Amino acid sequence: MSAKVVILEDEPDINEALSHSLAKDGFKVWSETDGERGLELVREKGPDLVLLDLMLPGMEGTEVCRRIKGDPVLRSSCIIMLTAKGDESDILVGLELGADDYITKPFKTRELLARIRAVLRRGDLRGESDRDVLRRGGLVIDALRHEVMYDGELIVLTATEFRLLRFLAANPGRVFTRDQLLNQVIGEKAVVIDRNIDVHVRSVRRKLGAAHAFLETVRGVGYRFASSVGA
Ligand code: CA
Repeated sequence: MSAKVVILEDEPDINEALSHSLAKDGFKVWSETDGERGLELVREKGPDLVLLDLMLPGMEGTEVCRRIKGDPVLRSSCIIMLTAKGDESDILVGLELGADDYITKPFKTRELLARIRAVLRRGDLRGESDRDVLRRGGLVIDALRHEVMYDGELIVLTATEFRLLRFLAANPGRVFTRDQLLNQVIGEKAVVIDRNIDVHVRSVRRKLGAAHAFLETVRGVGYRFASSVGA
C-alpha cells in the first residue's frame, strides 16, 4: 500500500517538483501552498507524512506543526520540515513540538526520498522502543538488566547515561534537541544530575570506545543515534 504524503510548500516550483517526484516514486500525494488550508488538507487526508515548509503564508510552519502534534488524531502523521539556512531556532522549536526530521534547502530529491523512507520505517517500528533489549550493530542495550554490551564486552554506564543511550538508540536516525534529551534523562527519582547534556554525551562516548560513532552530533541542533555505523 502506498504511503500518503501531504506537501505544504508555497514555492510553486518546489511544490510541483516534489509532488511530481513523490508521485513517480509511488506515493499518494496532495499539496497546498498555504499553512491554514494545508492544515485542513492534513485533517482531510490523514497522511502518513507531512513535508512542511517552515515559512508559509496563512499559518507559519511551526504553528502547523504544533497543531498537528497537539491533535490526538493527527499526531501520528510524521513530519519532515523543509527549512532554509539560518532557521535553527525554528528547527529546534519544530523538533521539540514533535517533528521527526528536517532537511535544509536546497536539497537533492534522492536525499529527501531517503529521509522520507527512514522516517516512515521508524513509524513502522514505533512499538520497538518498548522492547527490553535493543540491538544496534554489535551494541546490545538491555533495559531489564540495565546493561550495555558491545562486541561481548560489558560497558558500565551511570543511570543517567544509560537512559540517554537507550532513548537515542530506540529512535535511530532521529535528531533530538538538548532540551528533549534532558527531559528524557531526568528520571522520577533523579537526584542532582549535571544539566549539561553535552557532559553526559561525552562520557557515554568515552565509555563506548570503538562504538562512540553511534552518537552523532548534529551541529546547532542536538544529537542522534546513527542509523548505521560502519563497523
Ligand atoms: Ca516558503
